Amino acid sequence: MPEFKLADRLATLPPYLFAEIDRLKAEVAAQGVDIISLGIGDPDLPTPDFIIEALHKAAKNPVNHQYPSYVGMLTFRQAVADWYKERFNVELDAANEIVSLIGSKEGIAHFPLAFVNPGDLVLVASPNYPVYPVASGFAGGEVETVPLLEENDFLPELESISDEKWDKCKIFFVNYPNNPTSATATPEFYAQLVAKAKKHNVIIAADAAYTEVYYDEGKKPISILETPGAKDVAIEFHSLSKTYNMTGWRCGMAVGNASLVAGLGKIKENVDSGIFQAVQEAGIVALKEGEPYVKEFRKIYKERRDCVIEALEKINISCKVPDASIFVWAKTPEGYTSSEFVSKLLKETGVVVTPGNGFGESGEGYFRISLTVDTERLKEAVSRISKL
Ligand SMILES: *Cc1c(COP(=O)(O)O)cnc(C)c1O
Repeated sequence: MPEFKLADRLATLPPYLFAEIDRLKAEVAAQGVDIISLGIGDPDLPTPDFIIEALHKAAKNPVNHQYPSYVGMLTFRQAVADWYKERFNVELDAANEIVSLIGSKEGIAHFPLAFVNPGDLVLVASPNYPVYPVASGFAGGEVETVPLLEENDFLPELESISDEKWDKCKIFFVNYPNNPTSATATPEFYAQLVAKAKKHNVIIAADAAYTEVYYDEGKKPISILETPGAKDVAIEFHSLSKTYNMTGWRCGMAVGNASLVAGLGKIKENVDSGIFQAVQEAGIVALKEGEPYVKEFRKIYKERRDCVIEALEKINISCKVPDASIFVWAKTPEGYTSSEFVSKLLKETGVVVTPGNGFGESGEGYFRISLTVDTERLKEAVSRISKL
């Protein structure tokens, strides 16, 4: 039989850091321990019924059974524009400044193909969602990470990057509210980032998937597009996944600078054919009528967050109380690396959390707890952790 060697781009992927955790999890489960996984970044709550009803209705319309347009129905893009206006007071031209995505991951993964030539420098604020460096690498980019440190509220220190590096940089990836650190961006930070990008001709790719998962009406996360001049340099990725518990539906959007949106559209035109129109119809309904439901989700996440924070305080594990995202990012106790602590927790309590170094070197010394199990289970997990 012939042997098929994987392409170099796959052979050079970073090693899968969660393999050891997966192995240990299987081992602990085999001993009959009831495993509680706080490692999953996928909302456990179901999609609200009115969105499912909208899908049902739209799925019965034969008009929706044909190829959609890869950019998205104009009505979907207009609903996105209206939502951005209402939520962020950002004006977007539905025809030129918005493209639909088969989930934001799809857009993020394809974006570097539109703008990165082999050898181009891509900067990624890290710890990070793995798609940014991997997709940039697939496009031939040279990826460097910019550390997110607790003393800077997990915002990259832009002044510490040399002018020479800024000049070489093609894309700068940021993500706020951040996965995994749960940090949020400030208007000052975005203003400084936009100024740097303009001065050095850098594209800002901002991932805003978690702006709607916040805990306090007075601390709503912002969009980079609220920053004056951001539209000259930025594209923002957003998604219905985390907002409306629609991760499986694959419905997202990229918005912002028209030429960046068009570049991404050119890639998409050649690789996919857009989102099932019935899903777009349901997405429109979600964007227009979803807010009361999202308010309820926020209450649930807040109860979970508070329950975790209280438990961590009891055992002297330090963490910043997050304002947004579905994660708590906590420091591993003295004397443990991320992996050591996560293994200990799993072996002694059956609770699975994610080691921080799985999101890049700067995540070492931390672990991530996802608030994506029901409150009862979370309480059980927390009570086990408290006894550690
Ligand atoms: C979950 C998540 C997304 C959203 O992905 P979709 O493809 O839209 O479901 C994007 N970015 C980050 C950092 C995430 O954690």
